[in-house]
Amino acid sequence: MEKRGLAILGSTGSIGTQALEVFEAHSDKFELVVLTANSNAALLIEQAKKYLPNTVVIADENRFEEVKNALWEDDIKVFAGKEALSQVVQMDEIEIVLTALVGFAGLEPTMSAIEAGKNIALANKETLVVAGELVTQRAQEKGVNIYPVDSEHSAIFQCIVGEFHNKIEKIYLTASGGPFRGKTTEDLKSVTKAQALNHPNWDMGAKITIDSASLMNKGLEVIEAKWLFGLKPEQIDVIVHPQSILHSLVQFEDGSIKSQMGLPDMKLPIQFALSYPDRFKSDFPRFNFADFPNLTFEQPDKDTFKNLQLAFDAMGASNGMPCVLNAANEVTVQAFLEEKIQFLDIANYNEKAMIHFSGSSASSIQELIALDDSVRSYVDSLI
Ligand code: NDP
Repeated sequence: MEKRGLAILGSTGSIGTQALEVFEAHSDKFELVVLTANSNAALLIEQAKKYLPNTVVIADENRFEEVKNALWEDDIKVFAGKEALSQVVQMDEIEIVLTALVGFAGLEPTMSAIEAGKNIALANKETLVVAGELVTQRAQEKGVNIYPVDSEHSAIFQCIVGEFHNKIEKIYLTASGGPFRGKTTEDLKSVTKAQALNHPNWDMGAKITIDSASLMNKGLEVIEAKWLFGLKPEQIDVIVHPQSILHSLVQFEDGSIKSQMGLPDMKLPIQFALSYPDRFKSDFPRFNFADFPNLTFEQPDKDTFKNLQLAFDAMGASNGMPCVLNAANEVTVQAFLEEKIQFLDIANYNEKAMIHFSGSSASSIQELIALDDSVRSYVDSLI
């Protein structure tokens, strides 16, 4: 098997570091071409020295000298800045780009990689939330595959492999419920940042962990699923499954339901997105039925966790509304992490932004960038 050229955007993050573990276990199958970080120069340098990629990018230009000086003797090319991310993904040696950076910043490099005909292993769900129609349309035109990394979407993808000609009637995205499952609005008034960051099942980056606590993550995944699998909003449902063993379910037209199961471990969906259509042997811990005598399911509480309802509303509204919700949420989550607002303010400000920008439309990347910018300024002014 010829080695697949691999670029990992966001290699210093939670998904990025796990992707490097997958690469290390299968370095006979991949050629590591590009690693990138935002500002964590120390870890990027460490990774580059260990894995010797062709090129690294540090998005924060202030860290360029540090990275350049550290890597000059290793014969690794070093670039800096946001534009460099979009340029390096087009390198000839790359076959697949893992987009593991966080937030709206993933949109332009992902589009650039698609333009160059590179397959995408997509962790950066915000890209599809903001520009699902443009991204999937362009991918189709360029013959590019988008392989999901999100565990729920990977589960659905794994269920429909071999069933591509069979129609999906409905999908159920499973949600753990996060650290605040079962809490009331009254309870949520006083929760702290540390409590919100304490996810029961998954160890992830800070932004997605807060999104999981507020159920915004599930909302973003609903919109992501719509674009990845070409579904109508009424074909997507969310079910809370606190044990995170069933990673999502697909119901076909004959009523049969398939699910993909396993312990919560992101390395598996990362690996499948990179190895598809093959499955590589792994030593990931195996699921033991005796450890989980009760797998339970319950309805999500969309009244208390308003963000989930907001995402369904945004999906059904104008084509700019998911971009509005995403931009507002990136600002409010950051403000919560900086302890400038309370937990419940996240959804309240997100809702205000959706009302303020109701009816917004954006049909090009430039218009989406401008809309994202306006929403950020508006939400900043509220905070
Ligand atoms: P982290 O915050 O752990 O890592 C983010 C990575 O992106 C880091 O390498 C960071 O660099 C880089 N980055 C952040 N902002 C920018 C920017 N503006 N420009 C360029 N690079 C940037 O995030 P996660 O790994 O948790 O999540 C990554 C994506 O994957 C998100 O979209 C998330 O929703 C999705 N996802 C994550 C899962 C998980 O288990 N973590 C599960 C499913 C999906 P630096 O280190 O220098 O800051």
